[in-house]
Amino acid sequence: MISEALQRIAPSRTTAMTDRATQLRAEGRDIISLSVGEPDFATPPHVLDAARRALDEGQTKYTPVGGTAALKKAAALHFRRDLAIDVPANQVTVSAGGKQCIFHALMATVGHGDEVIVPAPWWVSYPEIVRFAGGQVVPIVTGAAHQFRFTPGQLEAAIGPRTKWLMLNSPGNPTGATYPAEMLLGLADVLRRHPQVMVMSDDIYATLNYTHAPYATLAALAPDLADRILTVSGVSKSHAMTGFRIGVAAGPEWLIKAMERLQSHSSGNPCSISQAAAVAAFEGPQDFLLDWREIFRTRRDLVVAAVNAIPGLSCPVPDGAFYCFIDAAPLIKRFGDDEKLALHLLDHGVAIVAASAFGGRDGFRISFAASEETLREALRRIAVALT
Ligand code: GLU
Repeated sequence: MISEALQRIAPSRTTAMTDRATQLRAEGRDIISLSVGEPDFATPPHVLDAARRALDEGQTKYTPVGGTAALKKAAALHFRRDLAIDVPANQVTVSAGGKQCIFHALMATVGHGDEVIVPAPWWVSYPEIVRFAGGQVVPIVTGAAHQFRFTPGQLEAAIGPRTKWLMLNSPGNPTGATYPAEMLLGLADVLRRHPQVMVMSDDIYATLNYTHAPYATLAALAPDLADRILTVSGVSKSHAMTGFRIGVAAGPEWLIKAMERLQSHSSGNPCSISQAAAVAAFEGPQDFLLDWREIFRTRRDLVVAAVNAIPGLSCPVPDGAFYCFIDAAPLIKRFGDDEKLALHLLDHGVAIVAASAFGGRDGFRISFAASEETLREALRRIAVALT
């Protein structure tokens, strides 16, 4: 019998759909998977070289629990250079993906009855981790009319005496919601009035900001709040390294230590080879990331135009990340619910994830981290399936 804690959570629907698409392909079906957020680019050669070198040099043993000194230093460089967050290496930790950083931070701090504010639509794993830890999810509902961003007033209304964390994901999954500096400063004003609230700033899509404003993140804009902000980043989405499983986090020393205490009993250290590869990613050339971003921008524009041309579908232009969050409300009656719509599209050869997986409704998420040719064919199939 599974535990009471595990009964509170469901399997990840993003990874479930991706596994299903992979299985159907193995059975010979022609399936285009736009279900998982994973750049299709090859991992850069200098990163692969660093991984090979690590193997050749015998870096195949345990490392310190929170990551090698070299990677902590490289991650601190990344936080300073790319996010304008100045942290010493002892305020940085490394886990097997941003997901594990978030998992350990919430498990280390959330107890029964604690509340965690999660803006919806949300990334699938946030509410599940909160529930697994025994916490209560307090949603803030956002909509397309406001580019899926919540206001200081909505934040104020959601905060209570038991609020432990606010989850903040900008650029966001699954909607691409991106908070400009002035909006973050408005949220900071509210947070200053509520010292019990910590902020999980999930910046994993930092390099994928299509606005022309400079990148904005809370810990850099409100340094007086930095001792209650955990900023999470990594190399998966930026450097096409999803399989390496390296995520990094910067925050107050007590929290970093708490996460490492837990990690010492869960996974131990992150993979030694992947850590060496991540050092090369953070310390190596970064200019190609701008080229990649422009490729994603072109794909985004292609997908948004094609989606809005299909009767019954609509989506706003996402400002960041690589997802379009599509409304299909006029079509839902035909299918019953968005999960059935997702299965119908799968039957027509396209794997996407239903909006309800993300706390949304009557629609679906497309990842546009695929080639233009693949996206065109997928959108053609979706148009055929729905008209
Ligand atoms: N974060 C990505 C997504 O939402 C990867 C899958 C996952 O971990 O949920 O597609």
